[in-house]
Amino acid sequence: MQYKKPILVLFTGSVETACGGASSASGPFYCPGDQKVYMDLAFFDELQTKFGASGGDFATAYVIAHEVGHHIQTLLGTSAKMRQAQQGKSEADANKLSVALELQADFYAGVWAKYNQENLDIGDIDEALSAAQAVGDDAIQKRMQGHVVPESFTHGTSEQRKYWFMKGYTTGDIRQGDTFSEVD
Ligand SMILES: [Zn+2]
Repeated sequence: MQYKKPILVLFTGSVETACGGASSASGPFYCPGDQKVYMDLAFFDELQTKFGASGGDFATAYVIAHEVGHHIQTLLGTSAKMRQAQQGKSEADANKLSVALELQADFYAGVWAKYNQENLDIGDIDEALSAAQAVGDDAIQKRMQGHVVPESFTHGTSEQRKYWFMKGYTTGDIRQGDTFSEVD
């Protein structure tokens, strides 16, 4: 199939998208409706100040690559299939499917890093892992509410997010990214 590049939109404050209006509170996201990646510039500071990541250029690269992963899932039809599968499911089961989709986007980010190895500096993979650690559902919930509710996870734990990024990075093999069979 033909690869169609997504468009990157940087914004501060708020933005209008084909998926509706969004503010910096929503964090970086991908809108399938217009195939654009939306990045609030303040988020990259918050990744360090609020989420406790070590920062660095490759933390930013990981976040963008994750969102482009959602673009790949849209082109391949995985996102639509997953949303269909969520219909009629309990919230907990629908969340599990969401986690699988998110971890696959992390996996694709790892595959991308593998094929861009010649551009990586020492410490770049650690920067990505630190960012993945910081945005794990368990890490976020622990910080926000002091305890974790696994049934409400939508993106996966810090461990899972690091695991799938690294699996993509070490294998570089897109066929290894079936998070839907492996995550339960
Ligand atoms: Zn995502």
